Formats: sequence, structure tokens, C-alpha cells
Amino acid sequence: MVATIATTMLNATVSGLNSTNYYEILDEIAKYNVQLNWAERLWAAWYLWMQNDVLATGILSFVMHEVVYFGRSLPWIIIDAIPYFHKYKIQKDKRPTFKEQWDCAMLVLLGHCTVELPQIWLFHPIATYFGMDYGVPFPSLTKMAIQIIIFFIIEDAWHYCFHRALHYGFLYKSIHKLHHTYSAPFGLTAEYASPIEVMLLGFGVVGTPILWVLFTNDLHLFTMYAWIFFRLLQAIDAHSGYDFPWSLRTFIPFWAGADHHDLHHEKFIGNYASSFRWLDKIFDTEAFPEAQKKRREKKMAQMRARKTQ
Ligand SMILES: [Zn+2]
Ligand SMILES: [Zn+2]
Repeated sequence: MVATIATTMLNATVSGLNSTNYYEILDEIAKYNVQLNWAERLWAAWYLWMQNDVLATGILSFVMHEVVYFGRSLPWIIIDAIPYFHKYKIQKDKRPTFKEQWDCAMLVLLGHCTVELPQIWLFHPIATYFGMDYGVPFPSLTKMAIQIIIFFIIEDAWHYCFHRALHYGFLYKSIHKLHHTYSAPFGLTAEYASPIEVMLLGFGVVGTPILWVLFTNDLHLFTMYAWIFFRLLQAIDAHSGYDFPWSLRTFIPFWAGADHHDLHHEKFIGNYASSFRWLDKIFDTEAFPEAQKKRREKKMAQMRARKTQ
């Protein structure tokens, strides 16, 4: 249990750490561990106060997921209601109604509370079994950034393969069709999907750090949370339906962004990757009109060549 791990790492009086009051524990940690920053103190106090590490991580993960998911979706709901932003809507005439947004939010919430909850709970014992650290202090920002970039690259490849596979006949009809209910997506639709899809594509998000710690023995739970945070922002923004002149993809040309995934929902074919554009380019599965035109021309040239043979 972490409470024991954390206590061995912290300088604090035993009487203070035995308190049942969170703030007293926090005070005690702050008094004797000046080297820790405020986030590390809050974190250590949480685990010491909870006295049950699996439960502490489970609650933290669930709350973080809900706050980030619905918190990040809210600005998109507001933007949908403000006429100024409508010129940036990708599929201009297809703004979601309030009822559509409400129904979508309820289904996503139901999925979070049923399918995802046990998985969130299982994460702590599995990840710590493979060597994940969750004590204090946290790793350096540089280390976190490097690991998160690696996770983005690996997860993008996982997502590309399995998302592309989900577009094949039977798999599409029985699993992935639900996610394509909305041909013009909006922020809340990011996790509007069948439980099997959530598990399959979610494995890329959660399984990547688990595999990483298995091979490197170097991962902190805080890095995991930062990764999930950025991956959630990516997924919600990619489904937002808005492409602004200040969108990330205008600064980072290989970043997929909303215009990449919006087209996938509109056309149902192509643009299978999650975060980056390179895999769709390499495997010639881009959904953009120019790419489609090139593919058509290539096919025509092949047909002509065959005829002349
Ligand atoms: Zn799809
Ligand atoms: Zn989607």
C-alpha cells in the first residue's frame, strides 16, 4: 500500500500522519518536506489520508477523467451557441442540437460508470505490478514530456491499425457504427462508442504506458495522468467540428486535429489515425479530396497501362 511507501519517503511526525483530517496531514507534510512542491504535497497527503492505494488511484482516475472529459467538452457546447464562431465550423450546416448533445453526454456517462469503471480500478494493481511508481517527488518535466511524446506516437499507430480494422464490414456493423452515429461530430462524441471499441482503442491509451513500464521500469502515475489529460484533449478537440486559424495543426503540420477527423466522420473512409497525419499519408488512406484525386489518377494510369500491354 502506498501509505507505507509514502511514509518511508516523507519526513513527518507519526502523530500527524495518523490524523484523519486531510488538511492536518497536508500541514504535517508541508512542515517537514519543504523540498516538495504544492502538487507533490497534495498528492502525498491524498494517499496518506486514503490509506488504501488502489481506492485512492481509482477515485483520482475516475474524477480526473470526468472533470477533463466534460470540462473540455463544455467550451465546445458554448462555442456552438455563439454565432461568431460558426464561420469556423467545418461542416457548416450541421451544428448539433441541445438534445443531441444531452443524449450523447448521457450515453458517454453511462459508459464511464459501467464499462470503464472496473478498468480504471484494475489499472493501479496491474501498473504497480509491472513497476509503476506513484510516490513523491514526481519525475522531471523533461522526462515526462519525452515519455508522453513516445506514448502519443505508439498510441497513434495502435489507433490507426485497429480503427482501420474496425471499418471492415462485420466489425464496422457490429462495433464501430455506433461511433459514426454523428457524421458531423462535436466534442462530446469523442467517447461515444461501443464498449468493445472503448476497450480495444482504449488499450492503446492505457496499455502503451503499461508496456512501457514493463520494458523500462520507469514510469510514474503522474506522467500517466498527464498523458491521459493530453490524449483526452486531443480526442475531444479532434471531434469538436471546428478548425480555427489558431488550431494546433496550423502550427504543427503533422498534427491531425479536427479537420482530419471531421472528414473521417463525414466520409466514413480514410483518416484513421488519432493524433498524427503521417500514417494515413504513408499507407495512402488520406480522406482529403487531393489524396482521393491522386488515388483515382493512379488507378486510371494503372488501367491504361494494363490496356496497352
Ligand atoms: Zn471510424
Ligand atoms: Zn471519431
